[in-house]
Amino acid sequence: MSTTGYLPDVDDPLTAPFWAAAREHRLVAQRCVNGHFRWTPSELCPDCLAPEATWEPLRGEATVWSLAVYHRAMHPAFAGRVPYTVAMLELPEGIRMLGTIETSTGDADRDGEVRIGDIVTATFDAVTDDVTLVRWRAGVE
Ligand SMILES: [Zn+2]
Repeated sequence: MSTTGYLPDVDDPLTAPFWAAAREHRLVAQRCVNGHFRWTPSELCPDCLAPEATWEPLRGEATVWSLAVYHRAMHPAFAGRVPYTVAMLELPEGIRMLGTIETSTGDADRDGEVRIGDIVTATFDAVTDDVTLVRWRAGVE
C-alpha cells in the first residue's frame, strides 16, 4: 500500500511531541496547567484558555462513541483497506479522538465488527522510519 499523500507532518511544532511519543509507542495529549486534557493539539486550552501545557501520557484505552464504515476510500492510499471503520473515541481522560479501528489480526476492519460502546486499545503502526500512526484495536490488552 502506498502511504504517500496522507501522512502527517511530524515536524509541525504543535504536534511534534505527539508523533515523537507515538514512535515510542506512547499515547500522549496536552494537559493545561489547570489539569484539562486537550485534543486536538492547540495553542490554548478550550476549557480555560490557558496557553501553557505539558504532554502527558494517556491510558491508551477508549470507548467507541460514534463510528462510520467507509466503503469508498477517502484517499487512494486507503483503497486496499476498504471497508474500514473510523470512530470517534471517548477517552477516560475526558477527550475525544478520531481513529481507525483494526481487527485483532491487523487487517482492515469489516462492517459491524465494532459497535458504539465497545472498548478499544491504542496500537502503534510504524508506517515509515519517521511516522508511527496510532490505530485502535477492539478489546483491552
Ligand atoms: Zn484548561
